[in-house]
Amino acid sequence: MSDNDWTGGCLCGKRRYRFRQAPSNAGYCHCSMCRRATGGPFAFLVRVDEAALEWIASPPAVYRSSPIAERGFCPDCGSPLFLRYDDDNRIRLTGGSLDHPERVRPQYHYGVESRLPWMDCGQGLPEQETEESF
Ligand SMILES: [Zn+2]
Ligand SMILES: [Zn+2]
Repeated sequence: MSDNDWTGGCLCGKRRYRFRQAPSNAGYCHCSMCRRATGGPFAFLVRVDEAALEWIASPPAVYRSSPIAERGFCPDCGSPLFLRYDDDNRIRLTGGSLDHPERVRPQYHYGVESRLPWMDCGQGLPEQETEESF
């Protein structure tokens, strides 16, 4: 397993992906949309070039979650798989869908104005508020 060989997928295994580059970025998003979309207290998002990402077998279903973004998920098991902004050629995969999420570390917090008061992970990392309401 090299630094440029990554795989992941949904809970049921029908949606699988692969990418062949190290993620350019990874971080927490505390915004309320990520919270609902993942069902967790935050999203852990791992950014890769969409051109480097390949869906193996069936592609995911896509839900337009805001005027500027859509989210991919498995229509069979419901696992959230990605967030994609319309004006960005990079895709943010849900870190928990990676086969080996321990290989990537969160580097920032986004949407900190919505962070739950009891969250105590990732202390000391750079913080940014959500720029647009979406
Ligand atoms: Zn699935
Ligand atoms: Zn978010």
